[in-house]
Amino acid sequence: MSNQITIALSKGRILKETLPLLQAAGIEPAEDPNKSRKLIIGTTHPDVNLLIVRASDVPTYVEYGAADMGVAGKDVLMEHGSSELYEPLDLKIAQCKLMTAGKVGVPESTGRLKVATKFVNVAKQYYASQGTQADIIKLYGSMELAPLVGLADIIIDVVDTGNTLRANGLEPRDLIADISSRLVVNRASMKVKHKLIGKILEQLTKAVEERQE
Ligand code: AMP
Repeated sequence: MSNQITIALSKGRILKETLPLLQAAGIEPAEDPNKSRKLIIGTTHPDVNLLIVRASDVPTYVEYGAADMGVAGKDVLMEHGSSELYEPLDLKIAQCKLMTAGKVGVPESTGRLKVATKFVNVAKQYYASQGTQADIIKLYGSMELAPLVGLADIIIDVVDTGNTLRANGLEPRDLIADISSRLVVNRASMKVKHKLIGKILEQLTKAVEERQE
């Protein structure tokens, strides 16, 4: 097996906040991933390449070993729900909360709830754990619109400042989970490429600790 490793990352918030941590581990992209159309990007580290994938695809690439490591939000990992992924490090970046939200001042229905979300699996588990009957409606984005047009009573989404909710007349209700980005590692890669992965893991752990100080 090759001694090269690949790290799956998604563009946007996670990439922006992950790059300084990778830099501390001696890994800098050879070209700007935000500008390049390439999906495999070399780095200043001779044995490390980056794969640019959709955020929700990161766990899939890592689970199947198509990427050795990846960075994914806890929300994405909860929804993916695989026990195959090793999750050795909380990078403590892209922090937010996974919450339910509803229209301001509108009391929660006591009957069957209509819940719109892209986190269908999380939603099912959450309402089952609460003993609440809920119909889960899958959306791919702009969840905040659903209660405004009567598609749903409640949404489940990630909330940072809460500005998006407020701008749409919604209010946060229940906290489902605190979210941050996690480093995930393929279990087989962890064994076979332990020397390189272990070193990167150690350097990232140090970089995360230093960032917290
Ligand atoms: P907010 O600051 O609450 O208005 O967040 C704006 C939007 O950004 C939300 O609707 C979320 O979809 C998204 N968002 C906020 N924080 C994160 C995060 N850490 N990861 C992914 N998406 C986020």
